[in-house]
Amino acid sequence: LIKSRDTDRTMTAAPPTPVPDRTAPEWRALDAAHHLHPFTDHKALTEQGCRIITRAEGVWLWDSEGTRILDGMAGLWCVNVGYGRRELADAAARQMAELPYYTQFFRTATPPTIELARRLADLTPRGLSHAFFTNSGSEANETAIRMVRHYWALEGQPARTVIIGRDNGYHGSTVAAAAMSGMKAMHRQGGGPVPDFEHIRDPHRFRNGPDQSPEAFGRTAAGWLEEAIQAIGPGRVAAFIGEPIQGVGGLIVPPPGYWAEIQRICANHGILLIADEVTCGFGRTGHWFGSQTFDIRPDIMTLAKGLSSGYMPIAAVMVGQRVARTLIELGGEFAHGFTSSGHPTACAVALENISILDREGLVERVREDVGPYLMERLEGLSGHPLVGEVRGRGLMAGVELVRDKAGPGVFRPVGRVGTHCRDLCFKANAIIRAVGDTMVMAPPLIITRAEIDTLVDTLSRALDQTKRDLP
Ligand code: PLP
Repeated sequence: LIKSRDTDRTMTAAPPTPVPDRTAPEWRALDAAHHLHPFTDHKALTEQGCRIITRAEGVWLWDSEGTRILDGMAGLWCVNVGYGRRELADAAARQMAELPYYTQFFRTATPPTIELARRLADLTPRGLSHAFFTNSGSEANETAIRMVRHYWALEGQPARTVIIGRDNGYHGSTVAAAAMSGMKAMHRQGGGPVPDFEHIRDPHRFRNGPDQSPEAFGRTAAGWLEEAIQAIGPGRVAAFIGEPIQGVGGLIVPPPGYWAEIQRICANHGILLIADEVTCGFGRTGHWFGSQTFDIRPDIMTLAKGLSSGYMPIAAVMVGQRVARTLIELGGEFAHGFTSSGHPTACAVALENISILDREGLVERVREDVGPYLMERLEGLSGHPLVGEVRGRGLMAGVELVRDKAGPGVFRPVGRVGTHCRDLCFKANAIIRAVGDTMVMAPPLIITRAEIDTLVDTLSRALDQTKRDLP
């Protein structure tokens, strides 16, 4: 029995799990019959069947057959503190027993929510003083879109509605976040083009400027923003959004000087700068935020994933003084929010998660130990005939495969070779993702050097096999 703290009321303890015990084939059959997976070809999945993951510990997953799998992607770039953290389960249980939910609407708030807002204001770069909570990264970016347009309307410049993103940027899959993302396949589905989103080319030197020095390409790529602003009209541009390192779009690491120049161009035109830190945040790049790694001073920062290490769905929009002041002083009601904005249980878990990252020095560990070690081990693959480029920062790394080592020749169709290599890694029980033909890794921040060896050795063998299998 669980006894609530202030009353004699007792709740009957739930059975250990409300999920029935079924065999793997039973799970697969029910999955095919009833479950539509995100970003998945359902027909192909039904033909092939899915892998059922049943438990996890540290960096390891176990499937329904009892196979142990090394999770080189921390779930979806999110399980930063690793699996099996009792402290997070306890934080959730304590908060659920005390106050599982209450809304932050109607002039109410709950202590974990306020405390998390305070903690994030301390942790994020100076000036980001206020937090608006959402449930997912998509909603956080959706909120940023509405917020910056509202800001400009309040500032008496309602024509500033255009938001500029980048090719292969990813900001979520709700209608506006997908439009803001630079993923062409997403633009083709779910409705026609959404107005007032523009995109510039991404700063991927290997593809977009291989003949330039990194510094020269940094200037060229930032210059694409200036060109776009001039073409659209500076008085129409509300904001520029970018991930410090583009993750989902292929692990694109910005060239030197790129962000400083982007920052200068935005400031010059008074354009708001939004840093999407959904994948880069909470230690992944070796600092608490990618903005610190690249010295970006954003007006708005969106957070999710590592905020709770994926243990709870929670995300946040951190808002700097410039926007916050206008919203608060001039804004009246900002007609925006979600039932679960600032959910107290999710906030309690996020607070404990941040404490773990802090207490265990995981961010420094990425910067000084396991991050450089992963890059060093991956650099060792750069002589492989399929490897065109190895790139990354902290525990965020990509190995781009090429047809012809002499240049960045792409495979046709794009992604076939990468997917083949990924499947070989899966078969060898390591999860490494393929974005197009780039093999991507983002393991939990607690990964050891020995586990990195296992991950890289698996990739190395998969590359050899892929080379043999190529027609
Ligand atoms: N922004 C970035 C940079 C992401 O990588 C993602 C998801 O991968 C999102 C936003 C969307 O977050 P969510 O899937 O929680 O909606």
